[in-house]
Amino acid sequence: MRVEVLGVKIDKSSMRESVEYIQRAIERKEKTWVVTANPELIFAAGADARLKQLINRAQLVTPDGIGVVWAAKRLGYPVPERVTGIDLLEALFPAAGENKWRIFFLGSKPGVADLAAKKVIEKHPGIIGETQHGYFEPEEQAEILERIRKFQPDLLLVGLGAPRQEFWIASHPDLATVNIGVGGSFDALAG
Ligand code: UDP
Repeated sequence: MRVEVLGVKIDKSSMRESVEYIQRAIERKEKTWVVTANPELIFAAGADARLKQLINRAQLVTPDGIGVVWAAKRLGYPVPERVTGIDLLEALFPAAGENKWRIFFLGSKPGVADLAAKKVIEKHPGIIGETQHGYFEPEEQAEILERIRKFQPDLLLVGLGAPRQEFWIASHPDLATVNIGVGGSFDALAG
């Protein structure tokens, strides 16, 4: 059952359950969209019915932030814990390394996704990575989409900032098995 915060349906999924859900989706090649719902995104969705409808179609929506956990509790439907984008990634990478997942890192300023991917792969050498920065021109998009498609990612991480990354994922649902909007996570991974 999901908890509704400002109309956004949040899953009662712990970090461990979220990781297992994503692992299973990749093993079974089930197209999956994961949203880490932070307060900014929830407020944006509260003011934008289209965004709210999109997010409510995602297969997994995690409570990204202590304020979201707190709000769910106040509404009478406690969620186990906060599941942020960066924590979720750190928890997924060991499995990604073991299982040689193909991960496409899309987003952040030029050089940042490259460095983030390099550091992640150094730590988890099984991962096969590819990157693209998030400041491309509209006319470059078709070529980027083609590159992602050819790479056939198990996991596509989209760090374009919320809610742009959510609209972006919703517009391109078939590029990867699992899609996750990760906000500024590459900046953290690269730093
Ligand atoms: N970003 C991008 N392209 C843009 C605008 C932003 O790739 O046109 C990136 C930015 O470099 C940063 C991330 O999107 O890495 C947004 O991070 P922020 O912390 O602002 O977003 P949040 O984590 O709050 O969603």
